[in-house]
Amino acid sequence: MIQLIKTEPNKGNRISTEIHQMIFKSKIYPLFYRCGYLCSMLEDKNQSRTSLSELGEFGLINHITKHFKIKHASTIKGVGDDAAVLDASKLQTLVTTDLLIEGVHFDLSYMPLKHLGYKSVIVNLSDVYAMNGEAEQITVSIAVSNRFSLEAIEELYAGIQLACETYKVDLIGGDTTSSTKGILISVTAIGKAKKEDVVYRSGAKETDLIVVSGDLGGAYLGLQVLEREKQVFQVNPNSQPDLDNYSYLIERQLKPEARKDIPKLLKDLEVKPTSMIDISDGLSSEIMHICSQSKVGCKIYEEKIPLDPQVISTCEEFDIDSTMVALSGGEDYELLFTVSIDDFEKIKGNPHLSIIGHITEQAAGMNLVTRANQELELKAQGWNALKD
Ligand code: ADP
Ligand code: MG
Repeated sequence: MIQLIKTEPNKGNRISTEIHQMIFKSKIYPLFYRCGYLCSMLEDKNQSRTSLSELGEFGLINHITKHFKIKHASTIKGVGDDAAVLDASKLQTLVTTDLLIEGVHFDLSYMPLKHLGYKSVIVNLSDVYAMNGEAEQITVSIAVSNRFSLEAIEELYAGIQLACETYKVDLIGGDTTSSTKGILISVTAIGKAKKEDVVYRSGAKETDLIVVSGDLGGAYLGLQVLEREKQVFQVNPNSQPDLDNYSYLIERQLKPEARKDIPKLLKDLEVKPTSMIDISDGLSSEIMHICSQSKVGCKIYEEKIPLDPQVISTCEEFDIDSTMVALSGGEDYELLFTVSIDDFEKIKGNPHLSIIGHITEQAAGMNLVTRANQELELKAQGWNALKD
């Protein structure tokens, strides 16, 4: 069985050989290592394989949901009725959803199903934290073709469950259906926040500081490394990838974490962001969302953008610009927010936070100040822009 590497969320732990073994030497996902892709693995006669039709829809739902425990008093009724029941209390409710489709959003040749389950929860929790709220429940809907066995769905749900345990959220429902081809997974996260605590994209004001958590660009480079290894494998199935130099990047791509700690950190520091967004599509496009919704401009300083040393060394190796990767690479799931300049003393020097620029008047536009002190206009490029 594949074991997810045990790291504390966002502690930046480095795994080298462990992750290497997990992804590339696993018996379930031999991947590039021995004999290829998931499809061939699923057809492997030696693997235990229970057909989904043996269980039927209700058997499957019962099987995959029975190990989940309810953790929140606000969950009155979870799985098992026509609808879940939540206690709305006096707080505001946050609802967010994401749909992930095989071949569009993920590639099972290097994304183990357990990781896919984990990541599909994380990307939704990240959106709740980006509203400065606490996530409490999720629903999970899946469509699967008969290419997938019960064991494969168990792997997916093991990842979902691990995310539920790690982030303390309740699985309260979903839907299960078949697809003609591939797998599709949709997660909805539900959270809560006091009315006065909710942070929108629209509240940034001139002179506010622009702050980002963690570091950027790792997840995009992790994807590049995995794509490269896939191509190498296709040419030479016996090649054994050496991924030790990329462990952090691969972890960022295959096991991202959501910054649950940042809303709490800011509360402890008595700082309420004026605006906030999570970085799913790259710094550039996220800051543009804040600027357009807040009707302001911004100045970002290239030298202030936080980069992990592995991002820098891999950019050199791939001959791509690390600033470009941070601006346009996606899936880092860090938080980008603005705070009043009056809060500078409270956040300065915090190891989790980097002040990367400030908000300007709208007419000044959105600009990047380069290391050479040149001002360039920021372009809206999602991470797809880098792919061509
Ligand atoms: P209905 O036919 O009334 O929509 P279902 O038979 O689809 O109900 O679902 C039965 C229960 O199982 C519901 O509580 C639903 O939310 C839950 N459920 C269905 N599919 C999933 C899934 N993939 N993951 C988690 N819960 C699920
Ligand atoms: Mg249903």
